[in-house]
Amino acid sequence: MEKMVLEEEIVIVGAGIAGLATAIALKRVGIRALVLERSDGLRVSGAALTLAPNAWLALDALGVAHKLTPLYAVREKMCITNVATGAVQEVSLIRNNRGGPITVHRKTLLESLAEELPRHSIRFSSKPISIEAQAQEGPYTIHLEDGTVITTKVLIGCDGVNSFVARKLGLTEPVNSGRSAVVALAVFPEGHGVREHVLQFLDVGKRAGIVPLNDKEIYWFLTFNTPKGETMTKDPQEIQKQVIENYAKDLPPIYAEVVRHCDLSTLNLAPLRLRLPWDLIFGNVSKGNMTVVGDAMHPMTPDLGQGGCAALEDAVVLGRHIGKSFIDNGRLVPGAVAEAIEGYVKERRWRAAWLIAGSYFSGWAQTMTVEAPTIG
Ligand SMILES: Cc1cc2nc3c(=O)[nH]c(=O)nc-3n(C[C@H](O)[C@H](O)[C@H](O)COP(=O)(O)OP(=O)(O)OC[C@H]3O[C@@H](n4cnc5c(N)ncnc54)[C@H](O)[C@@H]3O)c2cc1C
Repeated sequence: MEKMVLEEEIVIVGAGIAGLATAIALKRVGIRALVLERSDGLRVSGAALTLAPNAWLALDALGVAHKLTPLYAVREKMCITNVATGAVQEVSLIRNNRGGPITVHRKTLLESLAEELPRHSIRFSSKPISIEAQAQEGPYTIHLEDGTVITTKVLIGCDGVNSFVARKLGLTEPVNSGRSAVVALAVFPEGHGVREHVLQFLDVGKRAGIVPLNDKEIYWFLTFNTPKGETMTKDPQEIQKQVIENYAKDLPPIYAEVVRHCDLSTLNLAPLRLRLPWDLIFGNVSKGNMTVVGDAMHPMTPDLGQGGCAALEDAVVLGRHIGKSFIDNGRLVPGAVAEAIEGYVKERRWRAAWLIAGSYFSGWAQTMTVEAPTIG
């Protein structure tokens, strides 16, 4: 079979939140990008995620916020139960005039982003197996698993925590945090009757929570210290059983009840990994016209709920820098784009490093000291 050879201006690897948002940010300044996704469709693992006001600012800049806000309610309050003492603290999640967090289905978010892109700009079942730089600043030749060869002036890795592009840049591999997380949706066809508040339960070594998404669905999560020397099961039914029998047994009964209603097809268990902040501060986040966005740049533990929010911020910032270069030069000039990418890295590196550190320490404080944090 003859190899397909494509020539592109910008290739984005990964059609997750970061990849789709980056493609939209570029489209809004008149630049077409080709997005390569290794799965055969949008990959929706993780059921739901909470987007803080900074993410909504980014989604607004991308022209997507208005599609999601009518579908979901702003979370105004969170009730935090200290499992050891039974003390319950109610905290406001609304910050000054910036609004509050909104929890959305991941599928709805990804589909809302993908809809903004022209047809054929996402190429599914497309996994790079090698990337070669023809010179210091590119162009880059990408060989895909199916034999296709793509050359591109600019290469943006949005390929998540195990990023192939980050490895190509020479960034140090993410490390395990020693904790894992289970997330899923619980479905109550007759309605769940739970108020709109977020409920969190803090205990030594674990943090659990439930977030109603609408009248019939609740997003639930659990983070816990990964048992040493044990291989974690991948069977959703077994995971559900372990959560109910081991982790939920000291929590208020509502938690186990929610887990019992789990839609097992949405259940996801994963070890929590992070890039060490100093690896991000001192590492190569870009080389010539190649860089990384989202988890590919800054995997973090989910304790501040900022991984996806930061990916959206990255996309807007990178789009602004490359867009300015494009407008100033009337086209993508490799040296000028490399400078634009450096501007992006300068703007994002420290913020991302702080978020990684903040998330890690927040998780540590919440699950070690069991003191309810004060929010708002
Ligand atoms: C338990 C948990 C809860 C979380 N809760 C929140 C929250 O409430 N709020 C929040 O903001 N964030 C949250 N996060 C973080 C958030 O999920 C991530 O930061 C976000 O998904 C990152 O998006 P991404 O596009 O960078 O990476 P990903 O979502 O991992 O997407 C990467 C995409 O690239 C594709 N891909 C990977 N490798 C290749 C390859 N070689 N070739 C082609 N395609 C490839 C993948 O298939 C995928 O589609 C949470 C994370 C966890 C683990």
